[in-house]
Amino acid sequence: MLFILLSLFYLPSPSNERAMTFFTLTKNDYTHRKSVQKTSSSWKIICNPYILCIRFLSCVVFVIKKSFKNLPKPHRWLISGVAGFLFILFLFPSEPVSAFKNLGSTLEIGKRYDLEINFDTFPVQKDSGLKEINEVNSVVVKKGDNLAMIFKRNGLSPQQTYRVSKAGELAKKLLKIMPGEVLELQIDPQGQIITLQYPFSSTDTLIISKDEHNTFTSKIETLEVDTRLNYTQGEVTNSFWNAGLKANLTDNQIMQVAGIFGWDIDFALGLRAGDSFYVMFEEHYINGEFIENADIVAAQFVNQGEAYTAIRYNDGNFYTPEGRSMRKSFLRAPVNFRYISSSFKKNRFHPVQKRWKAHRGVDYAADRGTPVIAAGDGRVIKSAYDKYNGHHVFIQHGEKYVTKYLHFTKRKVKRGQTVKQGQLIGTVGSTGLASGPHLHYEFLVDGVHRNPRTVNLPKAESIAKKEKTKFIDIATVRLQQLNNNKRIMLAMN
Ligand SMILES: [Zn+2]
Repeated sequence: MLFILLSLFYLPSPSNERAMTFFTLTKNDYTHRKSVQKTSSSWKIICNPYILCIRFLSCVVFVIKKSFKNLPKPHRWLISGVAGFLFILFLFPSEPVSAFKNLGSTLEIGKRYDLEINFDTFPVQKDSGLKEINEVNSVVVKKGDNLAMIFKRNGLSPQQTYRVSKAGELAKKLLKIMPGEVLELQIDPQGQIITLQYPFSSTDTLIISKDEHNTFTSKIETLEVDTRLNYTQGEVTNSFWNAGLKANLTDNQIMQVAGIFGWDIDFALGLRAGDSFYVMFEEHYINGEFIENADIVAAQFVNQGEAYTAIRYNDGNFYTPEGRSMRKSFLRAPVNFRYISSSFKKNRFHPVQKRWKAHRGVDYAADRGTPVIAAGDGRVIKSAYDKYNGHHVFIQHGEKYVTKYLHFTKRKVKRGQTVKQGQLIGTVGSTGLASGPHLHYEFLVDGVHRNPRTVNLPKAESIAKKEKTKFIDIATVRLQQLNNNKRIMLAMN
């Protein structure tokens, strides 16, 4: 194609010379102003496919732009024709090929995929014409809809709306229908409603139906939920959030993992590439159909070579395999890692430790307004403003510990107030001596600054004595399952 195009320039024509000038000029641009005359020596460079491609495109642009008008008519047609053809050639095959490639490379063994089924192509029983059977209408609730409006649209009288809505206490659920939900109305040939079905959750359906005495009664039908165990694992490369998504954890589950280990690991600044996690969780099924991911039952996080393991007990709390609570008196980081995760790479090479020694605190760079939470239960001993610390909050925890939070844009607590661990105390800002929005966090033990990310904290409480045996039994099974899953995954890789 290129040669067809090139040969056009060499055809005798009054403007040929001018076209050539543009051609060599563009070439000149890419060869860093080599002499225009040295055409032969430039061929090597021209033959480079990449440069060839760019040159070709720039030629087309230049020719079309500047010398198009000067070419004789047949040339113009030919060039546009060739260019157009090439353009189509360029665009067309790429789409189906890449679509096919995507399909092939992204399907994973053991993963669920939704299939689209076109019901229109299925054989349908033809209507007999005699309207003897009841009509079943599936109605999708629209924005601003209520039962009366839906009934009216389906040819049902206000009297019927009234009777259905008064079908017992359960019928009050119909006052809370939401857009997007579905009501199923069964209507007889006389236009009278016989049954209304309203599935208001993934497992529960409200059913209102007319009995033999012609009165409406209501009941709720609940499907049996089947719980199954699933397992996933992943490795942190740039952020825990991304690694979690890659491991097919839901947003909730990712937050849950960070929550389970948040007392031991600083998810905001303490993660490193190569950290890994192993998660066992429940899934809900109804009639063999997957409904949702549910609770995490066991998890392990390896942070900077140190492994932390958590097992869920039937009180909903997580414990170490030995039965100590994962919950401790201090969170490792007073900010949610999600707000910090974008700076993970930078932190990796940032000598946090050194920086801490220099100014006796840890800096969490985050957007202005990022929520900051109390690292532990305590009492606010200071909530004030000065020109160095900006808006700042100090919290006393028991006798020994004080945590300090500086440079807030807004303080959310007052002096003397008691706060709970995880409670919002202010938002990140750059007030006082701060170059940009960040939280400066200090941790003091008996009045001495300590590194909050490495300081030894009070030991967590153990599980109640009478629960201990039962818990250890569960933990033993869970650990075994976790290790089996890890082994299977290892064998698969
Ligand atoms: Zn600082």
